[in-house]
Amino acid sequence: MNDPTMQPNTWIDVSRAALTHNIDVLRTASRRAGGEPVLCVMVKGNAYGHGLLPAAQALLDAGTHWLAVHDISEVQTLRHAGITAPIYVVGYLSPDQARAAVRMDTRFVLYDAQVLIAAAEEARSLGKLARVHVKVETGNNRQGLRHEAALALCRLVANTPGALLEGLATHFADIEDTTDHRFANRQLERFRQTADAIHTELGLTERLLVHASNSAALLLWPDVVGKMARFGIAAYGLWPSKETWLSVCELGQKPVELRPALTWKTVIAQIHDVPAGEYVGYGRTWRAVRNTRVAVLPVGYYDGYDRGLSNIGKVLVGGVRAPIIGRIAMNMTMIDVTDSATARVGAEVVLLGEQTTPDGNDSDRISADETAAWLGTIHYEVVTRIAEHIERRLVS
Ligand SMILES: *Cc1c(COP(=O)(O)O)cnc(C)c1O
Repeated sequence: MNDPTMQPNTWIDVSRAALTHNIDVLRTASRRAGGEPVLCVMVKGNAYGHGLLPAAQALLDAGTHWLAVHDISEVQTLRHAGITAPIYVVGYLSPDQARAAVRMDTRFVLYDAQVLIAAAEEARSLGKLARVHVKVETGNNRQGLRHEAALALCRLVANTPGALLEGLATHFADIEDTTDHRFANRQLERFRQTADAIHTELGLTERLLVHASNSAALLLWPDVVGKMARFGIAAYGLWPSKETWLSVCELGQKPVELRPALTWKTVIAQIHDVPAGEYVGYGRTWRAVRNTRVAVLPVGYYDGYDRGLSNIGKVLVGGVRAPIIGRIAMNMTMIDVTDSATARVGAEVVLLGEQTTPDGNDSDRISADETAAWLGTIHYEVVTRIAEHIERRLVS
């Protein structure tokens, strides 16, 4: 946008350098296994809040081989933007949507014969292939088929002209929420049993793309499960959890350095003095115990700035923390800048991410982790909840 008056007052900088760094270290770490796994990065959830198109482009530039999305509309957005890289859909497709996936040269998770039949028919009529990845249920009980049913569906794929059994997938239920990975290992055992049975029966050993490694698995076990790693949060520079980080240390490995790629910014819209004894915001939930300088930020829960941060969260002004006071409103948030030397109208404020002091000698960070702790949730939710209308700018 060239018209400066049309510049948004709250936006997100996405660091291309951070994304590139993360893909580099994850690629290098997973090479320890000796192989060259396919890197499939999840860009569902608006690329974990980083902006589907800018993030996808930067991730591909960094050497990501495949992108994974949740549904067909994300495929359409990526293809319309001219992205030709392989795309894998992990979520629900109706039979008609599976036909559309075939038309857009997109592979997808499979657990339903009707979807296969529709996709294969579309593929035959276009002289294409419906590339499917059968999902094996190993303990998450969210999506997929247990051993016998998965085998039966694989047989059906093998016998359906126009269809190709390209991959076999499963998903961990309890890998990032714990330092005890016995259940994850049990899931892997089950997955291997199914994979072995398919190999034995259908003889697909060389070609089949077996995949299960999400971020936690990739960080814990550099030996990628199968041939492809299918991960999200680590690509954006966030550890899946403290438990994952601890487990890596306990395993005697040096944790890789991941760099958070997202900085959510806004500017101060107004500064005013509130006398001691006055209240701030809806519901009068905050009362000044001293004469207070209050700054107003043009951001609120409409933008995905969670109302749960009212009176709890902090932001950065001039590289120093300032507390949120009163209730976060739909489009406005108030902060206490009494102790800030740099607060002025128009000054940049960081809601999420790092900011340095004006002299450049110090900095602080409001991490997605810390924000999640304030909210009683996980950082996955913090970043993906940032509203889609907030502009994402790819910066160097
Ligand atoms: C989101 C998702 C992933 C990625 O998980 P991370 O913890 O972000 O690495 C992998 N597989 C499936 C099926 C997913 O839905």
